[in-house]
Amino acid sequence: MADEKTIVVLGAGINGAALARELALSGVGVVVVDGDDIAGGATAWSTRLIHGGLRYLEFGEIGLVRESLAERNRLVRLAPHLVRPLPFYLPVQGRWGGLWAGAARLLGCEPLARRWQGKRGRGSWTVGTGLALYDLLAAGAGWPRHRITRAGGAGLPQIDARAFPLAGIYSDAQLLFPERFTVELLVDARVIAAASGTRFEVYTHRPVRLGRGGVVVVGAVPVGGGSAASAAMPAAAVEIRADAIVNATGAWVDRTLESLFPLDAASAAGPDAFGRRLIGGTKGSHLLVRCARLRAALSDYGVYAEATDGRPVFVLPFGPKLVLVGTTDIPFTGDPAEARASEAEIGYLIAAVNRLFPTVAVGRDCVQQHYCGVRPLPRVREGGRSPAGISRRHLLVRHADSPLPLWSIVGGKLTTCRSLAEVAAAEVLGTLGLPVRGTSRERPLPGACAGASRTAAIQQAVAAAAEAGMPMQQADAVAESTVALFGKRAADVWHRPAVPGQDVAQIQTQDKAQGPGPRQIRGVDLPAAAVDFCVREEWAVTLDDVIERRLMLSFHERLSRETIADVAELLVRAGVLAADLAAVEVDACVARLESRYGRIVPQDNIL
Ligand SMILES: Cc1cc2nc3c(=O)[nH]c(=O)nc-3n(C[C@H](O)[C@H](O)[C@H](O)COP(=O)(O)OP(=O)(O)OC[C@H]3O[C@@H](n4cnc5c(N)ncnc54)[C@H](O)[C@@H]3O)c2cc1C
Repeated sequence: MADEKTIVVLGAGINGAALARELALSGVGVVVVDGDDIAGGATAWSTRLIHGGLRYLEFGEIGLVRESLAERNRLVRLAPHLVRPLPFYLPVQGRWGGLWAGAARLLGCEPLARRWQGKRGRGSWTVGTGLALYDLLAAGAGWPRHRITRAGGAGLPQIDARAFPLAGIYSDAQLLFPERFTVELLVDARVIAAASGTRFEVYTHRPVRLGRGGVVVVGAVPVGGGSAASAAMPAAAVEIRADAIVNATGAWVDRTLESLFPLDAASAAGPDAFGRRLIGGTKGSHLLVRCARLRAALSDYGVYAEATDGRPVFVLPFGPKLVLVGTTDIPFTGDPAEARASEAEIGYLIAAVNRLFPTVAVGRDCVQQHYCGVRPLPRVREGGRSPAGISRRHLLVRHADSPLPLWSIVGGKLTTCRSLAEVAAAEVLGTLGLPVRGTSRERPLPGACAGASRTAAIQQAVAAAAEAGMPMQQADAVAESTVALFGKRAADVWHRPAVPGQDVAQIQTQDKAQGPGPRQIRGVDLPAAAVDFCVREEWAVTLDDVIERRLMLSFHERLSRETIADVAELLVRAGVLAADLAAVEVDACVARLESRYGRIVPQDNIL
């Protein structure tokens, strides 16, 4: 449309993607640009909980907890294939601990709270009061109410009952794959834009700069070095005439402003282009532990406990075999892309688990991999709250001095991505004199399915797999894994859309020329067709995109070099990886998994 306005969203993390979808619902043009991949930042390095944030109650953040609980309830309803309720077990040592510290914290006296914290953590009275308030704030949603129980009951986590004789039981939710949730937000935005005939484009692995007169220049795919440079097809620079920009680059917000508005040498040492820094990030590390005894001891609960220093630690089921443990909270000022879990953090998290489950005795060798990310927290004055106490509330900051309307998103949580997007979209649209035409409040994600509709999705996927020639004994397991990732979109994975001007005979000739290729990716229950689907439908460009953020294979316990080599071959067939660079890319992927996440990838599947 000639008079259509275009808003450029920088950053395709969960917040940028949610905002893009919200803007599309109001019929404006949206272009999303990410310097890396969709969900390439904190979104992928989080604890993966959709939660009210029980501990924020102590800091008096009632509004944030109420909003988070409302969003938790909504996301379980609108994205049930990805967001699932999880019962939590909160072990306590005694009855009275933490009452005075909690009161001091509520009144904003953090130093006093730390002094009064004591060694025995929060007692059952403090925990019970917090959980009662949590229930009250979530009232009416039909979630089970909390209870206080004795340790050691049947089906409960087998936590050291002598050290922690009591526990609070309550409910929150888990989003195992925020990466997939973020991709689906963008898929939905594309569907919405196609229905209203408005512009919607996503560019990943592309640098961005400001040109003259409100033009945003999305750079060409850089040549040489890096996975994106191995693309079979070069990509030219694109110029976008933007009416507004939203900087949703998370912990990179200040860096992005600096790169859009470079400072001269004299002022480069000072704060950002607009006179202040917005982000005061803290890094948080997680472990994925492969230990059958720990996984069994956890039962199907998440455990929310305190480490010896009073910091919150989560021990969470991560599928049937793994346990996710996190996190730390350490001020971090470097490039968020360089944040890594240190051996000290790994040791701290292992000690926290062993304090709860001393008989399991998890060792360093049980750690399958680790990851680390930087929270995009608002900057606070030095000597103020402890990192754990810094508000997780989000802010939308308008940069009045910018040559075109520009905002930065600061802070936020996975949980509140949708509500943040709703508020941000209303402000951006209002500033441009445009109406809010729709919101995502009741809009399910494209893959949404649960119960009977999930069973139907699995049946459709089985039929599609069998039709594509997969033996029935494989089709069941493959359909199950495909639905776990794509929800009710799973059957589409096997349906290659018609290419205009190409008939079925032509496609068959092309397939014959390429040879039969794998039907299934080796070592994992996923169809080969899923790789092509991620390229065609989900903006995957590189091997890392597919391994880490589309098929979630980097977490898979049976990941091997064979698996990665199959994905590389399928990317060559999909036309996004140059054939002569495939082997180099496989080596680079294996090396990255080891150096960044401590994941040792065996040659073939040994499990
Ligand atoms: C350790 C940890 C644990 C957490 N746990 C939880 C939790 O359990 N529950 C919860 O609700 N929240 C949690 N959070 C918070 C939540 O993960 C983040 O608030 C949220 O993911 C932020 O999303 P975002 O889109 O703003 O930023 P990000 O996900 O970081 O995305 C920013 C994107 O911007 C891109 N980018 C950077 N620079 C540029 C540029 N110049 N141009 C274009 N693109 C650029 C990056 O590649 C990235 O993809 C946690 C965070 C951390 C770090």
